[in-house]
Amino acid sequence: MGPVNQPVDTFNRPVRDLRISVTDRCNFRCTYCMPKEIFGSDYAFLTRDEKLSYEEITRVASIFVGLGVNKLRLTGGEPLLRREVDKLVGMLAEIPGVDDLTLTTNASLLARKAEVLREAGLDRVTVSLDALDDETFKRMNDADFPVEQVLEGIGVAADIGLGPIKINAVIQRGVNEHAVVDLARHFRGTGHIVRFIEYMDVGTTNGWRLDDVVPAAEMIEALNAVFPVEPIAPNYPGEVARRYRYLDGAGEVGLIASVTQPFCGSCTRVRLSPDGSIFTCLFAGTGTDLKEPIRSGASDEELGSLIDAVWRNRSDRYSEIRSSQTVSIGQRVEMSYIGG
Ligand code: SAM
Repeated sequence: MGPVNQPVDTFNRPVRDLRISVTDRCNFRCTYCMPKEIFGSDYAFLTRDEKLSYEEITRVASIFVGLGVNKLRLTGGEPLLRREVDKLVGMLAEIPGVDDLTLTTNASLLARKAEVLREAGLDRVTVSLDALDDETFKRMNDADFPVEQVLEGIGVAADIGLGPIKINAVIQRGVNEHAVVDLARHFRGTGHIVRFIEYMDVGTTNGWRLDDVVPAAEMIEALNAVFPVEPIAPNYPGEVARRYRYLDGAGEVGLIASVTQPFCGSCTRVRLSPDGSIFTCLFAGTGTDLKEPIRSGASDEELGSLIDAVWRNRSDRYSEIRSSQTVSIGQRVEMSYIGG
């Protein structure tokens, strides 16, 4: 049981982390996330009115904090594309009980915006970077975006105190396996923590196949052959990344093995879409709409009871029951809409 009035789901999991997707738009077209053929110029992205306002997002976040959430992460799409997102950061930073306020970004606008975000109350950033060579990176982001600008964003963010910075790299078979050692070499000794992520079967547009996944065990073997590492204990129970430290003391890396070693049992995450639905699993097909009740005058108590009931009914554990057969079945929400 959680503390009084804080719900647990059908597997006794409390709700602790709220991921807020502020936009479904992105300026990258990563082939594994927003392939150009589908997210082209005729794609119907959400309109301004369809998205929750900053006041509405803050209200939902406060209600979640009352139910047990203490970590907030802004994501997208690309969260830095949403106008004056620092204002939202400022509003969320005011909520009592938020211990960690972070943002996940492709860093294309980070050098420009890091300072206002920090001033508004952002604690940390996580940056996505899938390769260190332009040839691979540009092929993956499909927007001709150079590595150098991402590194500049990371540098500025680190300089003004948005660290420790985590750098997320999705590794795909035959695409960027070499990035494991490249990224490790570059970021060892900087204090930034690279996390290698197994390519997941989120959404339905990326043509995911199990064969495209590089298992975490294989990534660690490749890393260990060049830079010897050893496993270390998690920072807290339920930490998603498995931690390893370099034997020579140059810091640590993480492995996120959601395909080969699922961690549903300790999943305390909930996601809010840009248009105000809550999703209790990254692999869910449908969410629960909060925008309609919000805009038709529901009280905080009514919204709280609705969310409380959704959480108590939660039984998701998709990654534990996934098989190569189940992946092709059913609707799943897109990562570019709901965030990482
Ligand atoms: N635009 C921001 C960014 O680039 O970090 C936030 C949103 S993006 C959807 C969040 C993260 O999801 C990125 O690190 C991206 O690489 C990751 N991602 C997207 N599709 C994925 C997939 N199929 N498997 C694993 N990670 C994925």
